[in-house]
Amino acid sequence: MKVSEIFRSLQGEGLRMGAPTAFVRLAGCNLRCEWCDTKYAQDGGEEMPLEKVLEMVKALKCRDVCITGGEPLLQKETVPLIYNLLDSGHHVTLETNGTMSLQEMPCEERMLVSMDVKCPSSGMADKCDLANIEYLGPVDQLKFVIADERDYEYAKKVLKERKHNCTVIMIPVGGTNLKWLAEKVLEDKLEARVLPQLHKLIWGDKRGR
Ligand code: SF4
Repeated sequence: MKVSEIFRSLQGEGLRMGAPTAFVRLAGCNLRCEWCDTKYAQDGGEEMPLEKVLEMVKALKCRDVCITGGEPLLQKETVPLIYNLLDSGHHVTLETNGTMSLQEMPCEERMLVSMDVKCPSSGMADKCDLANIEYLGPVDQLKFVIADERDYEYAKKVLKERKHNCTVIMIPVGGTNLKWLAEKVLEDKLEARVLPQLHKLIWGDKRGR
C-alpha cells in the first residue's frame, strides 16, 4: 500500500472525537480541494505491504483505528486492511471523500464510514457521488465542511434532496469558528451536529501525537 504516515493521536472529528486513535494515512488523492490541510498526502507515499501496516498499527496500542488520506479507497488493499483490523477487534473509521463507491463497505457496529460531501468552496462539489449517501447506515456519518453561506445552503439542499439514515456533521473550515454555523443550524432546525476539530483546539495547526 502507498502510506503517507502512521501515527497515534486523538480523533479530532465526528462521532469518535477524543478517542486515542491509530491513524493510517494512505497516500494519493483524486481531488484537489481548495482548503486541503493534508496536501502532502495527495501524492507520493511509501510502499508498504499490508502486514507491515498491521504491525505498525498494533504497536500503537489503540482500540480505534482511522484510515484516512488522501483518498483511501483508491487503493485495492484498503478493504482487506479494514477486514483485518475488524477481525483483530478494532473499531475502524474510514474517512472517504465521497467519490468512490461505498456499496461494498462492511456493515457492522465497529465500522464507521465517514463520508465527506464536498461543498462549493472546496472547488470539488461536482466530483462527489451523492448516490453513496444511501449506503450509509445508522453508525455512519456524513460530513460537511462549511466555509460560507453558499456552502451552508448547498449542504441544506443535499440533506433535503437525499434520504439519509446516518449522523450529519457540520464543521466550519478551520475547525474552531463555530458560532455562525451553530446559530444557522438552530435557526433552521436542521438535524445536524455542529462540531469543532478537537486537534485544532488543542494543538492549533500542528498535529498532536
Ligand atoms: S479529498 Fe481530502 S486529501 Fe483529497 S484534496 Fe480534498 S481534503 Fe485533500
